[in-house]
Amino acid sequence: MVNETKFYDILGVKPDCSPEDLKKAYRKLALKYHPDKNPNEGEKFKQISQAYEVLSDPEKKKIYDLGGEQALKERGVGGGFSSPMDLFDMFFSGGFGGGRRRKDHRGKNVIHQLTVTLEELYKGAVRKLALQKNVICDKCEGRGGKKGAVEQCTTCRGTGVQVQVQQIGLGMLQQIQTVCPDCRGQGEKINPKDRCKQCNGKKVVRERKVLEVHIDKGMVDEQKIVFTGEGDQEPELEPGDIIIVLDEKEHPVFKRYNVHDLYMRMEIQLVEALCGFQKAVKTLDDRELVITVLPGEVIKNGDYKCILNEGMPQYKNPFEKGRFIIQFYVKFPDTLPPEIIPDLERVLPPREEIMISDHAEEVTLVDFDPEAEARRRSHRNAYDEDDDMHGQGQRVQCATN
Ligand SMILES: [Zn+2]
Ligand SMILES: [Zn+2]
Repeated sequence: MVNETKFYDILGVKPDCSPEDLKKAYRKLALKYHPDKNPNEGEKFKQISQAYEVLSDPEKKKIYDLGGEQALKERGVGGGFSSPMDLFDMFFSGGFGGGRRRKDHRGKNVIHQLTVTLEELYKGAVRKLALQKNVICDKCEGRGGKKGAVEQCTTCRGTGVQVQVQQIGLGMLQQIQTVCPDCRGQGEKINPKDRCKQCNGKKVVRERKVLEVHIDKGMVDEQKIVFTGEGDQEPELEPGDIIIVLDEKEHPVFKRYNVHDLYMRMEIQLVEALCGFQKAVKTLDDRELVITVLPGEVIKNGDYKCILNEGMPQYKNPFEKGRFIIQFYVKFPDTLPPEIIPDLERVLPPREEIMISDHAEEVTLVDFDPEAEARRRSHRNAYDEDDDMHGQGQRVQCATN
C-alpha cells in the first residue's frame, strides 16, 4: 500500500505500473516539457525528472512508497536530485553510445518523439516530420556581426567568467566565479550597430526542417532513428543529431508481446466453445485469416492458440514473423430456460456426487464483486487511512447464514 502518490501523479501512472510503463511515461513527458520545446515549463520539467529519478530506483521507490517525500528527506535522498538535463541526456543517450563525451564539441541533439501505429510498424511507412532547429546564420556566417566587428570582451578578457576574490576570515580567501555580465558568458562583444540584423547577433537562426522518417517493418516502441549531423548547429561546433524516438500507439485489438508476437483476445459463445467454430480475423495489413476449431475439441475460458508466422515482422528480416496468439474468452449465457436443463444434463458430463454429513449447515450464496470492493476501499483510503480494519471486517461478512 502506497501512502503518497504525488510522484506517480506527476508522471500520470499508477503505483503498481511496470518499469516499462514508468519509462514510457517519463519519456513522453520529458520530451513534451523539455525546455527546448517548452521554455516556460522549467518547473514542470524538474518535477517530472525528480519523480522519475525516485520511482525508477528500486531503493528510493521503496522509501518513497513507505514514507513519502518526508521519508526521502529524512534518509538524505531528497536533496540529492540530479540535474533534470543530466537525467534527460542520460535517458536518451543510453542507446547509441556515450552521449556525454561528444557533447563538448558538438551542437545539441534535437530529440523528437514520433507516435506510430502498430500498422505502420507492421507494414513499414514513411512519415514527414517538420521540426525547428538552429542553423548557422548565413548572413554573418555565424559571426554575429560584420567582419571585424566582433571584439573580445574587455571585462572578462574573453573567458566569459568573472572571478572575484573575497576575504572570508582571517587570511582565508574565497574565489567566486560568475558569468560575465557584460558579454553574458560569450567572451565577446559586438557593437550594436554592427550586429547582424538577421540573427540579432545570436549567430544562429531557427529554421524549419522537414524530415522524411523511414519506419521499417518490425521497428519497436522506443527505437531511435538518428539523423546524424542534422541537429542544432553552433559556430565552431560539429552539429548535433536529430533523434527520432518512436512511440508505439496502443492498438484497439492487438497487443505486441515479446517484440515479435501479437496477442489478441477473442470472445466466443458457449456453443462455439463446446461445438467448434470458424472465425475470420483481420491482420494488420488488412488480410483476412480464417481460423477453425473442429467439433469435438472444447475451448475453455482463457485458452490460448497461436498461428505461426502471422505476428510482427522481424526488424531487418521482415519475412520472418512472430506468432499471432489468440486467447479465448467464453461468453456464458446469464440464465437458461429451466425446461432445457434436462436436455443439457443428458449430453454434458455428469455432475460429481457429493456427500453431505448430518451436521452440515445450509447457507445462502449472495453476489460478491471484488472489483467494486477494491474501488470502494481505495476511495475510502484516500480520505481516511486508518479505516483499514473496518474494511477488512465488512468484507468477510459475505458468506454468513
Ligand atoms: Zn547573422
Ligand atoms: Zn565578458
